[in-house]
Amino acid sequence: MKIMKFGGTSVGKPERMHQVAELIIRDNEEKIVVLSALSGTTNALVAIGDSLLEGDKSTAKSKIDALEAHYQKFVEDLVLGETARAKGRAVLSEHFEFLNIILRISFNEALNKDILAQGELMSTKLFCIYLEEKGIGHMLLPALEFMSIDSHDEPQIIPIRAKLNEWLSRHPGKQLYITQGYICRNARGEVDNLKRGGSDYSASLIAAAANASVCEIWTDIDGMHNNDPRVVKKTFPIEQLSFDEAAELAYFGAKILHPASIWPAQQYKIPVRLLNTMQPEAKGTIIVEEADSMGVKAIAAKDGIIGIRIKSSRMLLAYGFLRKIFEVFEKYRTPIDMITTSEVAVSLTIDTASNLDQILKELEPFGDVEVSKGQTIISVVGNQLAQSKGVLSKLFASLEDVPVSMVSYGGSPHNVTLLVPDSHKVTTLQLLNRGLFGLD
Ligand code: ADP
Ligand code: ASP
Ligand code: MG
Repeated sequence: MKIMKFGGTSVGKPERMHQVAELIIRDNEEKIVVLSALSGTTNALVAIGDSLLEGDKSTAKSKIDALEAHYQKFVEDLVLGETARAKGRAVLSEHFEFLNIILRISFNEALNKDILAQGELMSTKLFCIYLEEKGIGHMLLPALEFMSIDSHDEPQIIPIRAKLNEWLSRHPGKQLYITQGYICRNARGEVDNLKRGGSDYSASLIAAAANASVCEIWTDIDGMHNNDPRVVKKTFPIEQLSFDEAAELAYFGAKILHPASIWPAQQYKIPVRLLNTMQPEAKGTIIVEEADSMGVKAIAAKDGIIGIRIKSSRMLLAYGFLRKIFEVFEKYRTPIDMITTSEVAVSLTIDTASNLDQILKELEPFGDVEVSKGQTIISVVGNQLAQSKGVLSKLFASLEDVPVSMVSYGGSPHNVTLLVPDSHKVTTLQLLNRGLFGLD
């Protein structure tokens, strides 16, 4: 069993969907194809939900109409026969009718999740109509029947596997299944999702649940690059990464992968390939257990980080101090990304302000608490960085006047992490590209 996931750009135009069909029939291996919504759709659905949340129904309505017009045109270009087009139109009227009904009823968070699910529901149905027109045997595998998150909004492979296997055993004998990325059911049985960019996570979870031979992530770039190509001009694809390196890059901002998408594949040792739909022969990146070389591989950045420093004169000498601090973050289910300590202070970072006020209140008794919002974590990732000559000296020499407020090194053998203000993110990535890779 092979998993092939295609992102928004890869299915965003009718001709791209045609190309996806060609890619999935290149071999006869049994496969589950995971599709995102057409590019731009989830953003549009978020905007519709936001308008409804503000009580602005007329803006929501015009956004729904604009989206529907886009999809009408898409269907006309996706399939040629009148029967297929009629089926396509029927799919659109079902989903857009649903969105129009929401306009008339009172809005809530659960309905918002239903709105967000429409993109993947439509892309998979439309793709199946195209496959049918082409005579390509397949079956639609509804993600809402097996993909789930628990009461902490975390997916667990064992229940996903049980439900997936149960569904597949009821629908045997197909070589090709098409399913939705991103969407799932929560512990209350409602429609929910794996957060933005979550189709990668779906693919990796399905790969783990189905014990797949490979998890292919098809996107609009030829693999994981050494630096963020949206920010830095000269970047290049990396041929091989270890799971640890890839997980670090994904978590710390390399948008090509959802932040949590590596652990399921890693846990079941399933190779992940990052491939380019627009350039299918390009090597891309393979992510496996082993790193193929020593030294720095890539740099990623995650912005919007909050730095917190707790300063106490009696602090680190007192055992139990760090535990008490961590307990506050645990209580509010807020992960700490970076941490450094000194004799008198502990500095750490979090990436969400959801419970910040309560956290700060509970930290107050431990000492002076300083908060700096608008920070960026820069993560320099590679293999055995400590044993690789000159990495640290090159890294710091290249940073010139960048005000680095935290450094974390040694937590794992494959990263060095820095904290800089958001306003220095772009310059830092550019300077490191020059200093570590010799590229301007
Ligand atoms: P998809 O819709 O296929 O999921 P995404 O837009 O989510 O695609 O991810 C692909 C994009 O990730 C690329 O177009 C690129 O701009 C961006 N990206 C950010 N950092 C990296 C990186 N280090 N390597 C490759 N792509 C990256
Ligand atoms: N469609 C969802 C999003 O845009 C999920 C994904 O594309 O991975 O976030
Ligand atoms: Mg993505």
